[in-house]
Amino acid sequence: MRGSVDNGIKEKLRRSGYTLTSQRRAVLEALKESKGHPSAEEVYLRVKQRNPRVALGTVYQALSVLEEVGVIESKRWSESPARYDLNLDPHLDIRCVRCGRVDEVPGVERGGLEEEIRANTPYEVTKAAVLVEGVCPQCQRA
Ligand SMILES: [Zn+2]
Repeated sequence: MRGSVDNGIKEKLRRSGYTLTSQRRAVLEALKESKGHPSAEEVYLRVKQRNPRVALGTVYQALSVLEEVGVIESKRWSESPARYDLNLDPHLDIRCVRCGRVDEVPGVERGGLEEEIRANTPYEVTKAAVLVEGVCPQCQRA
């Protein structure tokens, strides 16, 4: 991502009055490098490898701003810290209830869910999340 930071990300930040600070950029790079859906602590440890002086609170703040402007998405499964995701195309993630591993579920349409909910409630829908849990292949064998 270095040198080719998505203009869309900068634009989304700018529209909400933010800029792409070096901390936010480092957090985005960490998210891009870590496959899957890291927790804030995992993002922090990855950013820390490059910038040993970074504070956990700084990483939390960057994650919260990036989520607020819609560049990343957070997901919360039961008994698990929030996990962050750079893939904003509507998709489903499944979490293993035994080992905590998270994988994307390919091939399932989720795109219509928010429209369907809007059509059926007078609420202004701001977020619709589907929680999927299961037992991963490794844990099934264990
Ligand atoms: Zn598992």
